[in-house]
Amino acid sequence: MRRAAFRRLVSEALEDLPVEFMEKLNNVEVVVEDLPTPDQQVLAGGDEEEMLMGLYEGTPLTERTTDYTSLPDRITLFQDNIEAVCGTDEEIREEVRKTVLHEIAHHFGMDDERLYELDY
Ligand SMILES: [Zn+2]
Repeated sequence: MRRAAFRRLVSEALEDLPVEFMEKLNNVEVVVEDLPTPDQQVLAGGDEEEMLMGLYEGTPLTERTTDYTSLPDRITLFQDNIEAVCGTDEEIREEVRKTVLHEIAHHFGMDDERLYELDY
């Protein structure tokens, strides 16, 4: 899939977010890369073999103080990895949606354990 088409899926996923989510999204940029850098792989905390679909980098809202100032949080989607686990464009769309939701949930301060319980 071309990068532009992939980005469009990301935009759609963001537009389809519940309004309450959109309103609370604070200073977050969403970008697309082919693959994680070694640093990002480490930051994700999983083992090196884990195929990352996306990564949240930043300070969750729940951990910010009132005088919080920083660079925007960043959510990165890894196109090559997402495509590697998907057979069709429709599957890619679904995976993008799931990954966007998952990483945004981290922005809201949910950890992976809780997300796993919720099936995200
Ligand atoms: Zn996660």
